Amino acid sequence: MAKILVINCGSSSLKYEVYEMPEKKSLGKGLVERIGEGVGIISQESLKGKHSEEAPIPDHRKAMELVRKALTDGKAGIIGSMDEIAAAGHRVVHGGEFYAESVIIDGKVLETVDKCSELAPLHNPPNITGIKETINLLGKKPQVAVFDTAFHQTLPPAAYLYGIPRELYDKYRIRRYGFHGTSHRYVAAEVLNMLKRSEENTSVISCHLGNGASVTAVRNGKSVDTSMGFTPLEGLVMGTRSGDIDPAVLLYLLKRGYNEAKLDKLLNKQSGMLGLSGVSNDMRDIEKAAAEGNKNAQEALDVYAYRIRKYIGAYAANLPKTDAILFTGGIGQNSVSTRAKICEGLEGIGIILDPKKNEATGRKAGIISADYSPVAIAVVITNEELQIAIDTYDLAFKK
Ligand code: AMP
Repeated sequence: MAKILVINCGSSSLKYEVYEMPEKKSLGKGLVERIGEGVGIISQESLKGKHSEEAPIPDHRKAMELVRKALTDGKAGIIGSMDEIAAAGHRVVHGGEFYAESVIIDGKVLETVDKCSELAPLHNPPNITGIKETINLLGKKPQVAVFDTAFHQTLPPAAYLYGIPRELYDKYRIRRYGFHGTSHRYVAAEVLNMLKRSEENTSVISCHLGNGASVTAVRNGKSVDTSMGFTPLEGLVMGTRSGDIDPAVLLYLLKRGYNEAKLDKLLNKQSGMLGLSGVSNDMRDIEKAAAEGNKNAQEALDVYAYRIRKYIGAYAANLPKTDAILFTGGIGQNSVSTRAKICEGLEGIGIILDPKKNEATGRKAGIISADYSPVAIAVVITNEELQIAIDTYDLAFKK
């Protein structure tokens, strides 16, 4: 039995959870928000109760100090002392072409993750800070890096090369990397459990639909294509990201007063469902507005589902046979109507939803396809933190 601390450092947030392994039991979790924004907040839930505290949190170092305090808090803490933690696992966004699997962190790994910061300037630096601060807390105990990109390192060149001069790949490593890999890997394995199938000769199309969203084609347990690309901007229409767009639009806008910073903000923060609907980036608000007759919200939902259907169709065309498609992420797990809308029109390629099962499954995991559907449709609850805990336990303690 070992207690594993899972750390997920974002640019202004830090999520953490403690798992008892190999039992896969969560002992509690917490979130530090608004790091570097004046007054921040830490909130934590454990088996003993809830704890929350507001404090100035200028950086991740201070955030980790608050995490240590909250974890060992006498009243609502998750553990008695830091000595109980046997190892830590970290979400690291970008592992470039260096890592196809999770890895025990040493000086060389930290150097390589730092090198990959060029590819993920907003994400890898806080990930590195999180690792260094955890080393301060846990000393020489094993720490593991679990990369968002690793699962997609099995993509064949046909799927990862862009149609640009090869020298740009050779020189700058411009290619499709893909993200959400930890989630896609977890749910693709979960759906096999649900369907009682093995990896071999099974193909799954995994739709991770959260504020960020991506579709991945998984064949024999390996990612063979994914909709996010060189960055998480490519692919689906997301909460605030545009997804696929003709790159010439950017050239057009550059000539009309847009600069790099403005384009970055436009495509990453002001586009997607927010930009299209003019209502919100949150699917709940958009669904409500659409039901009340807001035309822009209705069209945004149409664009959203249409883009996902396009990817499902493209991946089905490149798999020998699709056995299952799955929905996960905040929208995939919770929005019955979005799942129904996406599946409308997919009957022709053997993806047939049972509306009653979809309704009854609601926000739980379950199979929602018609009994006679050639392709199974499933709702799967993703759990990236648990996958990180599993990888950490396996690498640190299972030889
Ligand atoms: P995630 O990034 O996976 O945490 O997903 C967050 C998104 O899930 C939110 O922005 C909402 O758009 C969506 N979401 C959460 N709950 C619901 C719900 N009950 N119905 C529709 N969308 C939801």
